[in-house]
Amino acid sequence: MQDKFGRKITYMRLSVTDLCNLRCRYCMPEEGIAGKMTHPQMLTEDEMIDAVKAAASLGVTKIRLTGGEPLIKKNIVSICRRIREIPEIEQIAITTNGTLLPQYAQPLKEAGLNRVNLSLDTLNPEKYARMTRRGNFEEAWTGLMAALDAGFDKVKINAVLIGGFNDDEIEDLAQLTTRYPIDVRFIELMPMYDSGDFGQDALIPGSVVLDKLPQLKEVLAGPPGQVARMYRLPGALGKVGLINPLSHAFCSECNRIRLTADGKLKPCLHSNQEISIKGLDLDGMKEKMREAIMAKPQQHEVMDAVHRSDAGRNMNEIGG
Ligand code: SAM
Ligand code: SF4
Repeated sequence: MQDKFGRKITYMRLSVTDLCNLRCRYCMPEEGIAGKMTHPQMLTEDEMIDAVKAAASLGVTKIRLTGGEPLIKKNIVSICRRIREIPEIEQIAITTNGTLLPQYAQPLKEAGLNRVNLSLDTLNPEKYARMTRRGNFEEAWTGLMAALDAGFDKVKINAVLIGGFNDDEIEDLAQLTTRYPIDVRFIELMPMYDSGDFGQDALIPGSVVLDKLPQLKEVLAGPPGQVARMYRLPGALGKVGLINPLSHAFCSECNRIRLTADGKLKPCLHSNQEISIKGLDLDGMKEKMREAIMAKPQQHEVMDAVHRSDAGRNMNEIGG
């Protein structure tokens, strides 16, 4: 279905939980979020599947499972398998911190998962522990290898660019594309609801990647809705992508809606408008989904160190 501005909505990001086993400084407060979403407020597995069916009936063909950390959701394999059975859904992807992939990569592949995006902002174990507050780099790295071994259609790394933290690792992260068949995408840090105060110096533009790697060659634009600008290092197996929500908002290309784990449709990541589908039957969900698609704003407000996102939630409660 098309929104008011002629954008075809084909992609839904489904956050299956707001909980996480890590506490990345740009995403979640240290003390976590216990009790923010109570169990009865959460969508049940059946409701999630109905929501995907409703979205599919309106033209959605791609689902991304996200969170919080989707792999701490006990029934994640079953959710994936049941989505796979919905004929209109052509592609299922997941965004994960990867720490539980050694256990889940193979079962998820068998359940029909096509693609994995793994979040990894640094290759330095000490920095990884500091930024994630409780993560172990080895676990994430072993997860990456497990994803490669499982034979997914595509494995990508997402690295949030943080000035003073990982801008000295841009070359090393990009070089992973020469050693492994993976894409590495650098994402500009977004100042979310209370996502820590990183200050102006941390908000560096994606263009620093091009400054550091002049040998990158731009590759042709991908399918509509692709938010990353793609490049390649000479002879590399994978690509390097830039996702620049601050310096180059890509709203005109937006083809997505988001559904939170407590059943709120978000027409836009950076708007606090939410439409609840909790407790509705399939027809009720379809109706609300139409409403959410028609409510998509043309673009979001400008964000910078002073102007935070209007999302009204932290990233772990939306799914990125
Ligand atoms: N836990 C999973 C993970 O980390 O991949 C999925 C959820 S996480 C909220 C989804 C994505 O959002 C991750 O790639 C993460 O790096 C990104 N993210 C979180 N907070 C962000 C922020 N303030 N700015 C930019 N990206 C952010
Ligand atoms: Fe958890 Fe992902 Fe947020 Fe990190 S970015 S705290 S792994 S939800």
